[in-house]
Amino acid sequence: MIAVFDIDGVLADASHRQHHVDQRPKDWSAFFAEVGADEVIDRGRELVGEMAGDHVIVLLSGRPESTRADTEAWLAREGIHFSSLILRPDRDHSPAADFKAGALAAIGAPDVIGLVVDDDETVVYRLAGLGYRVEHFR
Ligand SMILES: [Mg+2]
Repeated sequence: MIAVFDIDGVLADASHRQHHVDQRPKDWSAFFAEVGADEVIDRGRELVGEMAGDHVIVLLSGRPESTRADTEAWLAREGIHFSSLILRPDRDHSPAADFKAGALAAIGAPDVIGLVVDDDETVVYRLAGLGYRVEHFR
């Protein structure tokens, strides 16, 4: 079975860079440039470790591909082990729920994905409606 984890809001605390996208105009490049400075969310990291005992860990994030090197370095530094890291194509600006629904469909049917963990209620409702077992991380 596969367990799928979101990154921002589940493993990484993005609150220190949130101000870049709360302003107008939003500065997404500054927002993503600072991913390496995120604090880890201990409870999320522990949940990954628990699930890794009998699940393949897939990380699925709406972060763009341009953040891959910084994201992988951060995950290594924080000791978060995974099998696959799926990021959003750099020019994909679709809503997170659309991107994640499409990415999950490419992984497999709901019955091969034991659990999806995400903090975004829009994503949670969409994926639950598609038949995935989803935990709303808060
Ligand atoms: Mg999130």
